[in-house]
Amino acid sequence: MATTLCCPHDASPLTTEHYEGGVNVDSCPVCHGAWLEQGELDTILKTRERAVAQSESPESDAVAAAYEMAKDKAAPAIQCPSCNEPLSREEFGFASRILVDVCPKGCGRWVDRGEIAALEQFYEQNRPAQRQLPSFLTAILVMLGQ
Ligand SMILES: [Zn+2]
Ligand SMILES: [Zn+2]
Repeated sequence: MATTLCCPHDASPLTTEHYEGGVNVDSCPVCHGAWLEQGELDTILKTRERAVAQSESPESDAVAAAYEMAKDKAAPAIQCPSCNEPLSREEFGFASRILVDVCPKGCGRWVDRGEIAALEQFYEQNRPAQRQLPSFLTAILVMLGQ
């Protein structure tokens, strides 16, 4: 086993939790953020896509998301729990308004509480087939039941 990782926000030892898709996520018992090693987030999102496809996906609250993003951008940089490099804050995907802290050395990504759910929702609403289409074309596809 690797050494115990600590939360970049409050230095609490992270606990390993089993998440969807057989992924082990190191999460903080204090602030409920989670450290995802490279590839783990993709596994969660892919698993989630199948699950959500069978049910109604909730509406996103764009105003709250924009507010959260502005707040996140103002926060100081945190360090990688694995290699202690400062994490760089990046927007996940295109115009998701969701910021994740990414290790420049590729160890993984830190996501704050609620952000995994937001990422899942964003991923669900932006299927690869529709992402690049102009809105009028998307509307036509919707009318065609695509
Ligand atoms: Zn924490
Ligand atoms: Zn790192």
